Amino acid sequence: MLFAHDTEFALNAAAALVNTARAGREELPDLAALDRFVTDWKWTGTRARDEAELDAVRALRPRLARVWEMTKDEAAAFVNGELWRASAVPQLVKHDGWDYHLHATPPDAPLADRMAVEAAMAFADIIRSDQLARLHVCSAEDCDDVLVDVSKNRSRRFCSVTCANRVNVAAYRHRRATRAM
Ligand SMILES: [Zn+2]
Ligand SMILES: [Zn+2]
Repeated sequence: MLFAHDTEFALNAAAALVNTARAGREELPDLAALDRFVTDWKWTGTRARDEAELDAVRALRPRLARVWEMTKDEAAAFVNGELWRASAVPQLVKHDGWDYHLHATPPDAPLADRMAVEAAMAFADIIRSDQLARLHVCSAEDCDDVLVDVSKNRSRRFCSVTCANRVNVAAYRHRRATRAM
């Protein structure tokens, strides 16, 4: 395993959050969609379940998305800023069947703050281990979803199995078409 389990999970959760607003899509159109995202990504802690909470989570996405384009110095400054802004205090906690992992905000902090700090803590891990280059944009031509390559051999290029299959099928067709000519 490249990073601690909670780091990998937090990185994938951050990418998933960014990907709810790529290429003009809005995949968090309402509170019900946010509820589903929170359940899918196993967020615990207090929820406000109001428009302000939804707005704050939506507003976090472009901020997080920029990290995929940042240099190491820029990313470090971003992480420090987020941790400072939320007065983050890392604590080892166990809950809901998860073994010890780090939380840096109390469970009653606003959802968007907890999401920002958890992403910042995970980015801190990859910056410290000089692995920022593992943040990629999907290699499929018509997809700009982000991903974090946590594979051992740095082989991940696509945001999803769907994109990988689509590109492989296109390459296969292209090879066949070229051979037929
Ligand atoms: Zn937790
Ligand atoms: Zn993709």
